[in-house]
Amino acid sequence: MINICQLKVSQEEKDAVMEVLDSGQLAQGQKVKELEENLAEFCKTKYALAVSSGTAALHLAVLSLQLNPGDEVITTPFTFIATANVVLMAGARPVFADINSQTLNLDPESVEKKITPRTKAIIVVNLYGQPADYSDFYALAEKYNLKIIEDAAQSIGAEYQGKMSGNLGDIGCFSFYATKNIMCGEGGAITTNDPQIYELVYQLRHHGQTGKKPYDYARLGYNYRLTDLQAVLVLIQLTRLKEITLRRQQIAQEYYQGLESVAGLVLPYCASDRTHVYHQFTILVTKDFPLSRDEFKNYLAEKGIASAIYYPLPLCKVAHFNCEDTDLPNTCLAAEQVLSLPIFPNLADQDVQTVIKAIKEL
Ligand SMILES: *Cc1c(COP(=O)(O)O)cnc(C)c1O
Repeated sequence: MINICQLKVSQEEKDAVMEVLDSGQLAQGQKVKELEENLAEFCKTKYALAVSSGTAALHLAVLSLQLNPGDEVITTPFTFIATANVVLMAGARPVFADINSQTLNLDPESVEKKITPRTKAIIVVNLYGQPADYSDFYALAEKYNLKIIEDAAQSIGAEYQGKMSGNLGDIGCFSFYATKNIMCGEGGAITTNDPQIYELVYQLRHHGQTGKKPYDYARLGYNYRLTDLQAVLVLIQLTRLKEITLRRQQIAQEYYQGLESVAGLVLPYCASDRTHVYHQFTILVTKDFPLSRDEFKNYLAEKGIASAIYYPLPLCKVAHFNCEDTDLPNTCLAAEQVLSLPIFPNLADQDVQTVIKAIKEL
């Protein structure tokens, strides 16, 4: 079976975890601090803070905007549900705009139509590893006085007009969940250049403690800390991220070459002013293809090839969001057409060719 994603933890990483176990410092300590320093340096942001998940990162990012009930945050309905859940968790209202049918990222024009006097922020997701159209979002942010949260859970290492993902909005949010480009099982981080946001997130992560003197509380907070046991995994993978990304890009190129002539399949579009780190290689199975998307998925499974649908259900159709506008045409079409093929650094060229051959045989 060719999996969609397959983890490999190196001996160096295993040794590093053992070292932490022997050190006696298992919770948040020096390794977390080191990760934060290296991540900020990597993203070229002033600050980074490690947290317990990507969801925690997004939750703290939204909380750091200090929104009031009734405030609205616009985001994409074509993402993992955490992106929108955190808006509700912070007591504000998520509003969904449509996506661009080529990049499948949030469409700035659709966003502008959804802006009201209550809109305070936009959460932009870099879906599958490609940054969205930030210059258009910067223009909206300026015109309507909005904050931009970058959901970079899938895009670590990607660049937009020469700037690193994580440094594209007011706050960047990473996930180190087990399937992400660099990972530690569960984990996350926020990045920012804003000292006030940094200070707030620093406190919110650890029960509102200021850290200036013991048991000094500035506000209600959470336990969203990462552990040193996890931090060492991400620390080591961060040093190899260029190599990890390059391998993903190589596999993507093999897919592009092998599949470009297949009628009815649309391959991922990548704009020229940004880089794609191919967290997923997601194709569109259109009506001109001989099989429906779901039949195609079953066909691949019969050939021993896993594939996945990210995401089958637009969030505007999820009941708890109480969404008025469930008819976002580009999103609804994408949910019916997307199919992600196997891509991970240890995927052998031979396996990529097996996938291409199986598709071409159709
Ligand atoms: C993975 C992911 C998240 C959530 O991260 P967790 O670490 O699983 O909490 C949020 N947004 C996107 C786009 C993701 O892919």
